[in-house]
Amino acid sequence: MVDTKESYDVVVVGGGPAGLSAALMFGRARKRVLLCDGGTPRNARAHGVHNFLTRDGMPPAEMRAEALTQIAVYPTVDTRSGLVAHVAKVGERFEVTLASGATVTARRVLLTTGIVDVVPEIPGFADVWGYSSYQCPYCHGYEVRDKAWAVCVSSAPLVDWGILMLGWTRNVTIVTHGATLDADSLAKLAKAGLKVATSRIAKVDGRDGQIEALVLADGSRVACDALFYKPDQKPVALVTELGLELDERGIVKVSMMRESSLAGLHVAGDASTMMQGAAMAAADGTMAAAMMNHALTVESALGGH
Ligand SMILES: Cc1cc2nc3c(=O)[nH]c(=O)nc-3n(C[C@H](O)[C@H](O)[C@H](O)COP(=O)(O)OP(=O)(O)OC[C@H]3O[C@@H](n4cnc5c(N)ncnc54)[C@H](O)[C@@H]3O)c2cc1C
Repeated sequence: MVDTKESYDVVVVGGGPAGLSAALMFGRARKRVLLCDGGTPRNARAHGVHNFLTRDGMPPAEMRAEALTQIAVYPTVDTRSGLVAHVAKVGERFEVTLASGATVTARRVLLTTGIVDVVPEIPGFADVWGYSSYQCPYCHGYEVRDKAWAVCVSSAPLVDWGILMLGWTRNVTIVTHGATLDADSLAKLAKAGLKVATSRIAKVDGRDGQIEALVLADGSRVACDALFYKPDQKPVALVTELGLELDERGIVKVSMMRESSLAGLHVAGDASTMMQGAAMAAADGTMAAAMMNHALTVESALGGH
């Protein structure tokens, strides 16, 4: 029977900075590639992408559109919108089921599917997340410099992160969200001159995405213009379904080749690193594509599949 499935060298799953950079690299290396994107990047709510050289402050959607225009120059790269439903290894190849239900095959797969922020179920929190509540001061601290910041430090390893915020504003209130910090942590925060509120966050007050205050369980209010908070994170559904080996934080474990525990399936960007940022994800996607292209070309030349 003739196999009518479309076949690619690589299917790249995820069209954020990591996947787009990888697709560009593969296109320039003349590999036949399909880039599929679900259209839900982590930074969707951000006004602009910061710390990306030559693109500082550009709206994320504009950056993606520009990337797709540049990638479209390369004739071996196809792009599709929609979530990839399944990836399965069948013999030496991968079968990738697209949102349409169609299946394509690939010699290798690169997952650049990002990571999911699990926003806490505190009333009002989801309304401000990404608009005036952030994880990364390097990304969005400058825009709210010298303003009033609340920073959630709920365990000892986060104490230095809380103190780091003093680089942007002296007006910082540390909120432990009900956690009891050890004496050393409290001493460090006091030495840095930081106010500490220990009650649980009961509610986030704000309007149109702009945070105004945290309402604490003891009835007090912490007025603020920005909230910095490190949410829990979890892998996207496809990573969970594939059963890839993860570290304790839900990050996919990869080799230097960016290859996961499933041979031939590579992972790059936020999905496989704690160093999360657009430029870092782009660099990681480029690196993964270079490693994969090298392996694919050598395999072909030496008579591999
Ligand atoms: C609110 C916020 C603001 C940020 N601001 C900045 C900033 O200013 N500067 C900065 O450097 N970093 C910023 N970051 C971090 C930055 O957005 C990420 O580090 C970066 O987007 C990671 O790129 P990525 O390509 O790994 O994943 P993402 O950009 O998250 O892209 C992953 C893509 O994969 C797709 N996908 C997932 N599953 C599937 C599937 N099954 N099939 C097809 N597609 C799928 C998703 O739809 C998504 O489009 C911010 C993060 C947040 C949360």
